[in-house]
Amino acid sequence: MMLEEKTSFFVGLLTGTLAFFSYRLYKIRCRNTWRALARNKNSYTRVLFFPDKVIACKAFYVNDYGCTTFECHFSHNEEETSLGKLFTLLGSVRRSIYVCVYTLTCNDLVDILIRLNQMAAEVKVITDSEFENINNSLIWKLRSCGIQVRTDSLPYFMHHKFAIIDEKIILTGSFNWTIKAVTGNQEDIFITNKPHVVQQYIKEFKELWHYFDPKLSHSQTMSGRYVQHSIKKDKTLFQPKKKLISEPVIF
Ligand SMILES: [Zn+2]
Repeated sequence: MMLEEKTSFFVGLLTGTLAFFSYRLYKIRCRNTWRALARNKNSYTRVLFFPDKVIACKAFYVNDYGCTTFECHFSHNEEETSLGKLFTLLGSVRRSIYVCVYTLTCNDLVDILIRLNQMAAEVKVITDSEFENINNSLIWKLRSCGIQVRTDSLPYFMHHKFAIIDEKIILTGSFNWTIKAVTGNQEDIFITNKPHVVQQYIKEFKELWHYFDPKLSHSQTMSGRYVQHSIKKDKTLFQPKKKLISEPVIF
C-alpha cells in the first residue's frame, strides 16, 4: 500500500471512530435527563402531555447503538417529544414493569415490553378483554413472546392506564398505549416516585392480577370488589359495557 493510501485509510478510520464515539456521547447526553430522573431517589413528580408535534425516533432512544438511519426524519431531541421521554423511562426498567392499560395497539411501546422481557425483566400486563380480539390488538404479540397478559372478562371496562416501573415509579393518566394517543389525542401521563402513591398502585395491580387469574372463577375472586347485586341493577349508574358497543372503538 502506498504511503498516501495508508494515510487516507488511517484518516478515514480515525474520523469514523471519532464520529462513532461523538454520536454515542451525544446520545447518552440526550437521554441523560430522564434516565437520571428514573434513578433519582428524591421525591419528584413530572407530567407529559400528548400529542407530540413530531415523532420520536424509537431506535435512537431504545437501541443500544441508537439510530443508524442516515438523515433520520424522526426526532432525536428528548426535550422535543413526550414519547422520547416515555421511551427513556421505559428503557430505565431494571427489574420489573407492570402495565395496566385499557388497550395496547402501539407497536413501538409493545416492542419495548418485549425487549425488556428478553432482558429478563419481569413484565406483566393487564388489559381489557374487549380489545383482546380486535384486529390491531397486540396482546397476541406479547403472549407469543412469553409475556404474561391477563384480561378482565367482566361486564365493566378495565379502564386503568398506569404502569409501575421497578415498583418505584408510577406513570398514570389518560394515556392508552395506542398510536392515536401519541400522535393525535390530547393525553397526559403523570409520573411520580412518591412511595405512598406508588404503594397504592402496586396494591391495585396485585389485586387485579389476582382477580383476573384465569384459573380462578369470578365467584372466588370478585367478592368485596364490586357493589352488591341489588344496587347494580340501577342502570343509570351501571351500564354493562359489552352489549352497548356493536363494534370496538379504537382509541
Ligand atoms: Zn432516528
